[in-house]
Amino acid sequence: MALAGRTRISVAFLSKLYKGHELHKKSRITCMEPTILQRNDHNVSRKDISQAALKVLYRLHERGYKAYLAGGCVRDLLLGKHPKDFDVVTDATPNEVRRCFSHCRLIGRRFRLAHVIFGDEVIEVATFRAASAADDTPDEEEIDESDVSDASDVSDASDQTDPSDPTDPSEESDESDPPPRSHRQRGSDRDSMVNEETGVVLRDNVFGTPEEDAFRRDFTINALFYNIADFSIIDYVGGLKDIEKKVVHAIGDPDLRYQEDPVRMIRALRFASTLGIEIEENTYEAILRQRDHLAHASHARMYEEILKFFYSGSMNDAFDQWCETGLLDVMFPGFALWVREDSTEADIAWLRVALQQMDKWKSHKVKASQELLYTLFLAPYIRAKAAEIAEGDPSQDALLTALQIIQEQLAVRILIPRRILFRMNDILKAQERFGDRRNDDRVQRFVRRPFFRDALVFFKLDMLAKGENQADLIAAWSRDLAKAPPPDPRRRPQQRRPRRRRQRR
Ligand code: ATP
Ligand code: MG
Repeated sequence: MALAGRTRISVAFLSKLYKGHELHKKSRITCMEPTILQRNDHNVSRKDISQAALKVLYRLHERGYKAYLAGGCVRDLLLGKHPKDFDVVTDATPNEVRRCFSHCRLIGRRFRLAHVIFGDEVIEVATFRAASAADDTPDEEEIDESDVSDASDVSDASDQTDPSDPTDPSEESDESDPPPRSHRQRGSDRDSMVNEETGVVLRDNVFGTPEEDAFRRDFTINALFYNIADFSIIDYVGGLKDIEKKVVHAIGDPDLRYQEDPVRMIRALRFASTLGIEIEENTYEAILRQRDHLAHASHARMYEEILKFFYSGSMNDAFDQWCETGLLDVMFPGFALWVREDSTEADIAWLRVALQQMDKWKSHKVKASQELLYTLFLAPYIRAKAAEIAEGDPSQDALLTALQIIQEQLAVRILIPRRILFRMNDILKAQERFGDRRNDDRVQRFVRRPFFRDALVFFKLDMLAKGENQADLIAAWSRDLAKAPPPDPRRRPQQRRPRRRRQRR
């Protein structure tokens, strides 16, 4: 009977999802029967999986729980790429996960996740979720004990043991047995809330079955599971076929899925550009129909998702896609208008040098700072705005005023953290100082500033993009930098506001 109930819920959920979606209409009846690819029929090998993730999977499996790798790591392994990180899903509740590992903390208020900590590596363990999630980025708040509904479920992670092996059985706390399954928060934790006006799902934290968990994900290639019990791949959504065809394919009705969570549109572009694959036709066309919804996305997530592009290694291609789909207009309205109508060839050439540099950093495994990436991306626009304000050659004042205007423009779509805004200000402001090396004290003070390294990288790139040869000057500053003590990473940028904008008459 329990199964029948589950089936009914899933069918109702799927019918809503699959409205008007040819490929999956057929699978409505068979959706509860996944395709299972046995170990001999796929290329995912345990030697490509992190030891920490394997430990987590084995431990959960030994305890009688389902333990799967899920999401981007399975996709990447199947495509023969090296995953960034490994995410685990299980039918153990977060509290039950915490009991299995000593060095484990629960995070997130909207939906709880467990982080199992192995030295520098963190394995995220999520309980299978039902319904579609608007926001897969957990709020990084740790849950304190008062937040945990099952108060008996407390383990002590603070004892004196080796933090690099949280699966050490000696680490377990001796708490009472887990509550019977029927007492778990299945489907009752907190209901999804949908914003009536925008259709955006605001929160959900409803535990579900593996199939529900697969269907709430964004794209078929992101919804595959690797089962540690028999090393098979489990596919509820047709992801294996799409991996083979190399397409990004929305799960369900793409219009609906984008309305629920508009960030999925930019995620589709990112997967296509980073994996070098196509976007399935309907999934793509729905972006063109739904793009304005991106204006309703959480500004903090926009900041993070855009950063992922900057770090993706394919930002130069992605920028073309942003322009072609019109998503650039929704994400950066003023900037997009300037690119289309007012930018010069030299401006766009500068921008391309910056975007290509971001891609080079990725291929050389260099991690640029967030502030440098945002500054590079916006610099030609900021400078053009400054020239407009100054009615000619931009002065330093005009540059900072332009930056402030643009930061205000961006704030309606993207939440750039204040410390990043200040650093962007620092990097741009520093540029005029590179030409002057007359006073040695000033030179030394400048080199010790925490933003100096980023400012110098910007300067080098600026000279390159403008075709100016300043090799000697750059070499001199680089020598000074090599001699300077490393900046204190704990020092935050000064909390000062950029100069107030003067009214133009
Ligand atoms: P990357 O390699 O860039 O990290 P990823 O697929 O792992 O790609 P994450 O943002 O880490 O992306 O998300 C992990 C998984 O969570 C995704 O593979 C997908 O299954 C699911 N997911 C993430 N964001 C969404 C979303 N907005 N809607 C539905 N599912 C999502
Ligand atoms: Mg990931």
